[in-house]
Amino acid sequence: MQVTRRQFLVGAGAVTGGLALSTLGVNANPARAYAADLTKINKVLSATQTTTICCYCSCGCSLIASTDEEGKIFHIEGDPDHPVNEGTLCPKGAALMQTTPVNEHRLTKVLYRAPHESEWQEKDWDWALTEMAKKIKAARDADFMATNSDGKTVNRVETMAFHGSSNVDTEECWMMVSTARALGLVYVDHQARV
Ligand code: SF4
Repeated sequence: MQVTRRQFLVGAGAVTGGLALSTLGVNANPARAYAADLTKINKVLSATQTTTICCYCSCGCSLIASTDEEGKIFHIEGDPDHPVNEGTLCPKGAALMQTTPVNEHRLTKVLYRAPHESEWQEKDWDWALTEMAKKIKAARDADFMATNSDGKTVNRVETMAFHGSSNVDTEECWMMVSTARALGLVYVDHQARV
């Protein structure tokens, strides 16, 4: 049987913990704590595990996401078999569960605050996307340059910029950049570089 680095570390941790407890003389309390840890380890090991990449920055640390039989995510950890992070995560990556539906404080609806207003209004996505499209079109049409000062064809807009996110996947990146270029944008950048 092939043993991954992660399985080795989990197994070694369980054995080491057991040896340490027996060396120190086990009493009821640490024994109960140890049993609870094993339950957690077993739950993670029996879950569906999917590798993915941290959404936050260009380091590209690898993660293992554990999901239960209903497909609900309940655990995220660093992937020890990945050469970039070897199982480690920075505080942002270690808090990634906060971006999942288990976090009841996540925003799940569009909130809009009108200029000079202090209150947020709840809106639907149709309204929000239409408003964004109208503003983008107006700005693009106002400043589109077909030619530069030398009369050369440039077909560009210099007064708008596109700022991407690492919280999107490769296909979404392709669509976003294609859209930005189709609009004539030349300033296209990414949040991870800021
Ligand atoms: S875990 Fe931290 S360092 Fe790694 S990709 Fe995420 S944000 Fe970047």
